[in-house]
Amino acid sequence: MLEDYLRSRVAALPNVRYLQRTELTRYLVTADNSRVTGVALRDAVTEQESTLDADLVVDTTGRGSRTPVWLEQLGYARPAEERMKIGLAYTTRLYRKRPEMFGGTQSINPVASPAHPRGAFFGQVSQDECILSLTGILGDQPPSDPDGFLEFVRSLPVPDIYDAVHDAEPLTDPVSFTFPASVRRRYEKLSRFPDRLLVLGDAVCSFNPVYGQGMTVAAMEVMALRTLLLRNEPPDSREFLRRIGKIVDVPWQISTSGDLDFPEVPGKRPAMVRFGNKYMARLQYAATQEPSITTAFMRVAGLVDPPTALMRPGLVRRVLRLSRELRSARPATPAGRVTAST
Ligand SMILES: Cc1cc2nc3c(=O)[nH]c(=O)nc-3n(C[C@H](O)[C@H](O)[C@H](O)COP(=O)(O)OP(=O)(O)OC[C@H]3O[C@@H](n4cnc5c(N)ncnc54)[C@H](O)[C@@H]3O)c2cc1C
Repeated sequence: MLEDYLRSRVAALPNVRYLQRTELTRYLVTADNSRVTGVALRDAVTEQESTLDADLVVDTTGRGSRTPVWLEQLGYARPAEERMKIGLAYTTRLYRKRPEMFGGTQSINPVASPAHPRGAFFGQVSQDECILSLTGILGDQPPSDPDGFLEFVRSLPVPDIYDAVHDAEPLTDPVSFTFPASVRRRYEKLSRFPDRLLVLGDAVCSFNPVYGQGMTVAAMEVMALRTLLLRNEPPDSREFLRRIGKIVDVPWQISTSGDLDFPEVPGKRPAMVRFGNKYMARLQYAATQEPSITTAFMRVAGLVDPPTALMRPGLVRRVLRLSRELRSARPATPAGRVTAST
């Protein structure tokens, strides 16, 4: 719904034109390759080639962006690439919504944790429909056959979702999607880059989607682009890419540190990452008890506040007190850490 709304708003702008079913096949450049002057296109239906002149080209072709290859062909270096392997699989099914399913909450999200690497996002997408995405990592793909799908739901650490859907009316078959690794392309480190070409969104960095960062980061990058365009002169590509690098730093750190909490995920775990993950486990535990801690956590997860906001002394004291109380009240069951209903 959100995408449809945004798309119609953009389409209503008088100077915007969508070219549907049209593939970008390469950049047009000046004779010395120093400046991008347009794009070459291919109509996906007729396969007819065409070109489009441009004052500025912004690559927003997502994770599969071919800019690194095209840069190399034009005599530039490819950006260095960082990867965090997670082998994430989503399997998703729509159901008809019943009023009692959510018990008054917006969604039920038992997010995966090292103790329970299976997770789920169960949310409301329209008046009549709700959507259930099951997540598994490193080869534990939620099945796409209906019985296996329901069995996976039953294996989640909290019963709420199974209770809601086991006798609900499915509206679609389960469909799987795999996401092998988060990928960050370090465009900001390149010493040469063509003028009048920018890259943003997943084409620069595609995060493990469970952290819900990609759209926010893309929006922050667009705001950076707006700042440069408001100068009324062509944006300096390298300055823009440096700004993008800074925007990506924090969410990349949040997402990769979170992934490294899973022992099977390959990668080095510096002391800061180990300490941060231990603290986050306690914080999420405490957040199930105190809404102000949930709010502080959601503001950081939503990239409104920096991670340091979770280290304020008053908050740290409450987290430590609550996690101690919880642990003595009931032995630390793995489910305690992962239940997060919003
Ligand atoms: C399963 C899943 C769940 C997610 N959940 C969330 C979430 O909850 N919150 C959140 O913030 N983010 C989430 N994300 C991430 C979010 O979807 C992305 O970060 C966001 O879509 C990136 O936008 P983008 O415009 O950079 O790239 P994309 O949305 O990937 O768009 C790229 C577009 O370019 C087109 N394209 C590609 N190559 C060419 C070409 N050569 N010529 C023409 N067109 C081309 C593609 O068809 C596509 O339409 C999720 C991602 C996944 C996979």
